[in-house]
Amino acid sequence: MTPPFLAVDRARIAYGALVAVHDVSLSVARGETAGLVGESGSGKSSLGKALACLIELAGGTIRLEGTDLRTLAAADRLALRRRVQMMFQDPVSSLSPRLKVRSLLAEPIRVHGLPFVGSWRRIEALMARLGLAPDLLDKYPHQLSGGQARRVAIVRALILNPALVVCDEPTAGLDVSVQGELLNLMRDLQAEHALTYFIISHNLTVIRRVTDRVAVMYLGEIVESGPTDALFAAPAHPYTAALIAATPTIDPTRRRAQIVLPGEIPSPRDPPSGCRFHPRCLHAQARCRHEPPAPRTIGDGRTVACHFPLG
Ligand code: SF4
Repeated sequence: MTPPFLAVDRARIAYGALVAVHDVSLSVARGETAGLVGESGSGKSSLGKALACLIELAGGTIRLEGTDLRTLAAADRLALRRRVQMMFQDPVSSLSPRLKVRSLLAEPIRVHGLPFVGSWRRIEALMARLGLAPDLLDKYPHQLSGGQARRVAIVRALILNPALVVCDEPTAGLDVSVQGELLNLMRDLQAEHALTYFIISHNLTVIRRVTDRVAVMYLGEIVESGPTDALFAAPAHPYTAALIAATPTIDPTRRRAQIVLPGEIPSPRDPPSGCRFHPRCLHAQARCRHEPPAPRTIGDGRTVACHFPLG
């Protein structure tokens, strides 16, 4: 049987005693756009960095095209890092402020030892494709607009011809019209470069618009996952339902009554017993306080981790 393009199995990420990602499993098919949503502090950015080999797992596995990232020798790891690129939430601060765009774009070529002339032609072609004028090569990151900085980050990500691009909050800080242009461009580039996207966002409007499948993360755990349309149409986990109900929409047929969750997301240093969501859940029962719900299939490729799913 062909392995999934990307398979995460019981991944655990810890920073000392703080477990940011707790036994998370998910899979992504080649060419798919997968989404991961959740509040700040849910662990979604940590998982994204682990997918891009930027941080180590404390447990579990991540396999890309069947290869376990943890078992790779150093040279193979570098080669694999070409296949997986990350676009960071704040492209300006993720780029060195002392380097001009020209040097920032040349950096991946140097690090990966690629032939310079051919690679630079690829950069010029990508810049033209993304509507970036050549004079931007002589600017510093802080001299770019938000949209230009995102586009430079996309060029930098695509220089190495990746298969998977992990995008952390790809539209954060952009106004709505620039967001729309950028998402359309990313969709076109996906088809042109045979990309698989893993999009991390707290913006459910973006996730709903661009993803094929979505996973919802709460306090380091996946609480629900499935095809985007099905999950948005009938969320099964009370947390998913609250997130969706809080999403602004101008479509009156999609409006839902707001669900106000009590309290804030707890600290991952001291997660609640049983279901981690129980102190904020409007449907919690006694069982929820001591028994963690295991993920279970509810049909149509959906899973939910809740003792009393909605619907
Ligand atoms: Fe709410 Fe209980 Fe389901 Fe957790 S298991 S989401 S507390 S109903």
